[in-house]
Amino acid sequence: MAKEADDKLSKIVSLAKRRGFVFQSSEIYGGLSGMWDYGPLGAELVHNIKDLWWKHFVYEEENMYPLQTTTIMPEAVWKASGHLEGFADPMVSCEKCKRRFRKDQVGEMCPECGGAFGEEKLFNLLFPLSMGSTEGGGDKAYLRGEVAQGMFVNFKNVLDTMRPTLPFGIAQIGKAYRNEIAPRDFLFRVREFDLMEFEYFVKEEEWKEYFTKWKDRMWEWIDRVGIARESVHELEVGENDRAHYSKRTVDFEFDYPFGRKELYGLAYRTDYDLQKHMAASGVDLHYTDPVSGEKFVPHVIEPTFGLGRTLLAVLLSAYEEDELGGEKRLVLKLKPALAPVKAAIFPLLRNKPELWSKAREVFVQIKKEIPQVVWDDNGNIGKRYRRQDEIGTPSCVTIDFQTLEEDTVTVRNRDTGEQERVKVGDLVAHLKKSLS
Ligand code: ATP
Repeated sequence: MAKEADDKLSKIVSLAKRRGFVFQSSEIYGGLSGMWDYGPLGAELVHNIKDLWWKHFVYEEENMYPLQTTTIMPEAVWKASGHLEGFADPMVSCEKCKRRFRKDQVGEMCPECGGAFGEEKLFNLLFPLSMGSTEGGGDKAYLRGEVAQGMFVNFKNVLDTMRPTLPFGIAQIGKAYRNEIAPRDFLFRVREFDLMEFEYFVKEEEWKEYFTKWKDRMWEWIDRVGIARESVHELEVGENDRAHYSKRTVDFEFDYPFGRKELYGLAYRTDYDLQKHMAASGVDLHYTDPVSGEKFVPHVIEPTFGLGRTLLAVLLSAYEEDELGGEKRLVLKLKPALAPVKAAIFPLLRNKPELWSKAREVFVQIKKEIPQVVWDDNGNIGKRYRRQDEIGTPSCVTIDFQTLEEDTVTVRNRDTGEQERVKVGDLVAHLKKSLS
């Protein structure tokens, strides 16, 4: 079982590399630990995941306000938020080989050389930097360890400009950076990653109601993005394991090949952050109820979604090796909304000019309406199908001799392998229907 699981991860890693989903960052220079780049298909997949998330959590809600804030923020923010002190993992170093490990990931001895560990220390995960050209440093700042602080420090700006009424959310998708002690497991634990996140501001007495609401919406998201529901488990995080700002946390854990580990988090952050920023900055961060005139500091529910972990869970859920028409194949059963390529267009043969130019005509016509289509006239049709199955393309369209006679094409379904004949005039509508 362990071996099978290991195999599945290495198969995904190799597919991701081979087909242009994920590359090691700065690979030609030997790479950088805990950093990954998205290739042409990965970048499109990421784009589609973000779009779907935005649709699900921003557009389909009434009271969500988008925000995009900087990834570098001054020391004062991280001091006030408690991250300078509390955003740390326990670390041990091997006295013999000097390697460093996260205490909770190792046993009593060094897993590399069997040496003894020195004293346990807390290792802060924020990346420090100094800004400006002043000799000796300039202004001290940090790459953000979470995007949430961007929402808190702009809380008053959003209140003043948008006049939202409670409950409302502020949503953001963007990069976060953590100087992880031991990056590992492909996209799971990295040092630079995208977060999709919102802070939902409520009256204190309503926090439980909204905690439940967002927990339910998170499950709907899991179905919608195509993560296998049976591989996801809620974990009530105990008091000692919760982040410093949280009064209740539920983790959504996923059965990765390397174990059951966090995919998403849902936290009740109370009014902790707004209170801290109000005290440290001296700026009034109260909300005034428009009806009663009551002034108070709202409480916060925060659902948070790592993009890389989403992508990994999506790939693991979609990956299948099956048999179609007696032939083994590898297929990514991605939700059509996520598929980087929506349809592939093939001329049956590449050396028949009449066929080829009809196929180009069909391709150009579809591309106008569905931009994420590709052209492939390389190799036999069977090989072309395999190539598209591997990257999760929902439909393949073939232009053949019958097309020239009756203006119909075959549309082949990725999951069933079934083919149907569709009129060229109906093709765009047909493909769009299968994408919805
Ligand atoms: P862990 O316990 O795995 O270190 P965490 O509890 O510190 O995670 P949160 O602070 O809740 O994680 O981070 C929010 C989300 O960001 C997580 O649910 C996860 O999806 C993602 N995430 C956190 N750390 C990493 C990382 N090093 N690499 C990739 N994604 C991450």
